[in-house]
Amino acid sequence: MKHKFSPISSVEIIADPMPCMTQLIQDKIVALEARGSEDAFCVCDVGDVVKKYRAWKELLPRVEPFYACKCNTDEVVVKTLADLGAGFDCASKGEISLILKQGVPPERIIYANPCKQKSFIKYAAKHNVDMMTFDNEMELVKIKEVYPNAKLVLRILPTSQVKVQCQLGNKFGCHPTNVSKLVAKAKELELDVMGISFHCGSGVQEARAFSLAVKQAYDAWQICVQMGFNMTLLDIGGGFPGQKSAPISFPEIATILNDALDTYFPPEKGVRIISEPGRYFVASAYTLAANIIAKRTVSRDSSDADGCSEVTKNDEPSHMYYVNDGVYGSFNCILYDHAHAEAHVFSDSPLRFTSSVWGPTCDGLDCIIKECRLPEMEVGQWMYFPDMGAYTIAAGSTFNGMPRPSINYICSQDIWDEIYPEHCSAKRRCESVSSEMDYPSMMAAGPDVMSLRHAANSISCIE
Ligand code: PLP
Repeated sequence: MKHKFSPISSVEIIADPMPCMTQLIQDKIVALEARGSEDAFCVCDVGDVVKKYRAWKELLPRVEPFYACKCNTDEVVVKTLADLGAGFDCASKGEISLILKQGVPPERIIYANPCKQKSFIKYAAKHNVDMMTFDNEMELVKIKEVYPNAKLVLRILPTSQVKVQCQLGNKFGCHPTNVSKLVAKAKELELDVMGISFHCGSGVQEARAFSLAVKQAYDAWQICVQMGFNMTLLDIGGGFPGQKSAPISFPEIATILNDALDTYFPPEKGVRIISEPGRYFVASAYTLAANIIAKRTVSRDSSDADGCSEVTKNDEPSHMYYVNDGVYGSFNCILYDHAHAEAHVFSDSPLRFTSSVWGPTCDGLDCIIKECRLPEMEVGQWMYFPDMGAYTIAAGSTFNGMPRPSINYICSQDIWDEIYPEHCSAKRRCESVSSEMDYPSMMAAGPDVMSLRHAANSISCIE
C-alpha cells in the first residue's frame, strides 16, 4: 500500500550533526528562561521513534508492528508511525477514533482488548475495524450480538514464569486447558476465529518468554484448526523493552523470537504475524526536564523530614529536591508501570550527596526517587530524566492544578528528509530564514514554527 506522507509542522528539524540530548535540553532551558518560564517540559526525538521502526523492520522482518497507542497517544508519534506504515493496537473507542483520524485504514487496526464495552464494539463495527481479541465466553456472546462478522483472535495466557516489568496474565488470557471449550463456544455461535494472540507481560526481561509463548500459541492454533477454523493470523503482543538501560536488548529478543517463529510458523505456511509493541517505540524518545522549585536539607540520619534537625559537621546532609512534575503527572509510571526514574543534573562538581526527589503536589506519596546520589543543586536549577516516553504523559493528571509538561518535538534533518523527502525544499527555505536567528529567538518564535538549528555542539555531554 502507498502511504500518504504528511509532515508534522510542530517538529523542529535539526541540521546534522545532531547535538546530544544534554545539549538540546540545555538549549531549551535557555530559550524557556528567556521567556521567563520555569515549567517542566519534554523533548521528544521523533528520529528515535523512526530508528526504532527501522530496527524492527530489519530484525523482525516477518512481524508487522501494530503500535499499542495506549502507551503514549501523542499525535506526533502516532502520525509518524502511521506515515511509516505501522499498524495500531487500540483498546477503546477513543483510541480507534484517534487512529482513524490520522487516516489509518481499519485493516491496520486491531481492537486488542479482550473485555470490551458493547457500544465500543458497535463503533468498531461501524468503522470496519473487524480484527479483535477475546479470551472469555461472555465476550463471544457480546460480539455475536453486535458484530457477528468480526475476525476474532483468541488471546491465550502464556503460562511460563518469566520476569516482566508488569504482569498482565492476572487479568487476561485464556488458560491452555480452557482453549478447546472456548473455541467450541465460538463454533457454536458461528463466529470467525482466525488468529491467536498472547501478551507475555509488559516490559519482558527474559527473551525466552516469547519463544515459550509462540510454542503455546502453536498448540492453541492446532486446536482451532482441528475445530475447522481457517487460521491466518498470529499476534505476538507487546512487551518489548524500550529504554536504553533495558535488561535485555531488542536484538536478543529478535534472535530467539525469529527462531521460534521459523520453527512453529515457518514462512511457507503463509501466516500473517503481527505484534503490539508499545513501550519499545516511545520509551527512549522522550526526555523530561523539570525545574527544582524547592529544596530542603536535612541531617541524613534524621528519621523525620521536618527540615528542623541540626546538621552537624560530622553528619553529611541529605537534600530533598521538589521538582515541578511528579507521580500525579508524568511520573505516574512509578506507581502504575513499576518504573524507576533516573535523575540527571547539569553540574561539574565531583561531590555527591544523598538526595531524594519529590513531585510538586501536596501529597506525601508524590515521591519520584526515594534515594540517590547527586551533586548539590539549588532552587531554580534543572534536572532531566531520560526514557520518559512510555506510560508517562498518557496517564498524567493535573492534580493540585499542576500543569502537564509541554512537548518539544525534534528530528535530525537526515531522518526527516528520508521520511518526508517531498518536503525538503520547503525546509531549506526555512533554513535560510532561521540561520539568521540565534537559537533562543528561534525557540521563542514558538514550537509550531518549523525551524532549523545550526548551533555547534559546544558544551560537552555529561550523559
Ligand atoms: N497489547 C496489549 C493488549 C496490552 O495490554 C499492552 C500493554 O499493556 C500492550 C500491547 C503494550 O505492551 P508494551 O508497552 O509492553 O509493549
